[in-house]
Amino acid sequence: MNKEVVFISGASRGIGTAIAESFAQLGHTVIGTSRSEFKFENKQDNLIPLALDIADRSSINNCVEYLKDNNLKPSILINNAGITSDQLFLRMRDEEWDNVIATNLTGTFNLTKALIKNMIKNRYGRIINISSVSGLMGNPGQVNYSSAKAGLSGFTKSLAKEVGSRGITVNSVAPGFIETDMTSYLEGDAKEKLINEIPLKRLGSANDIADLVVFLASNDASYITGQTISVDGGLFMY
Ligand code: NAD
Repeated sequence: MNKEVVFISGASRGIGTAIAESFAQLGHTVIGTSRSEFKFENKQDNLIPLALDIADRSSINNCVEYLKDNNLKPSILINNAGITSDQLFLRMRDEEWDNVIATNLTGTFNLTKALIKNMIKNRYGRIINISSVSGLMGNPGQVNYSSAKAGLSGFTKSLAKEVGSRGITVNSVAPGFIETDMTSYLEGDAKEKLINEIPLKRLGSANDIADLVVFLASNDASYITGQTISVDGGLFMY
């Protein structure tokens, strides 16, 4: 695999950090972002931390300027940043809907719009969106989150059709329940019950997701586009 510039949103922890470190270990230059300033614990020179709020278009413009100033042209984009704001539908406040859609769906639009131009110019690119099992099978308390994540599947398919002829693939990865801060609320009996429903009888690790993302970005995956691929221990089967 050529040495590329990889851009990953939401890389300060969890799945995003695992993806960033996996690409960095392969020798790529990795720009990892988070809403606020952060540092990678792993001090590799090719891991660049950057503050960026993907829901804020002025923050995206500043980021594009930073990339220009430093002559960084990402050819691999991982739209990983995401939030939850769970609430049963009847109690869901407007801002709980708005914030989740703004980050998980509109944020992906904002960042992809900003970075795809260089990929089109170079006639090469990989865009990988981190979706969720919740967008495929639904989950009570997550009407906002599962709507945003299901939206990513449509985004992935339509964009894949638009840019396939330019050498750009667009895919989604749909994690099941992965051990990160986002699922730290799971404990005790509830956690055990959930694990029992998973055919592989465990929660996933961030590296389980990173491994597929790295594969989808590689030349070995050059004929895969428009897909949403689950990594969920078999929790949801099509
Ligand atoms: P996490 O909460 O541990 O980390 C989320 C990251 O996104 C953080 O770095 C945070 O700073 C960043 N972020 C949030 N809002 C942002 C914004 N507006 N702008 C920029 N960065 C922002 O989450 P995680 O568990 O590592 O999840 C990563 C992705 O995987 C998310 O899209 C999430 O929806 C998805 N996912 C996670 C699970 C799971 O079980 N953990 C399951 C399915 C899908």
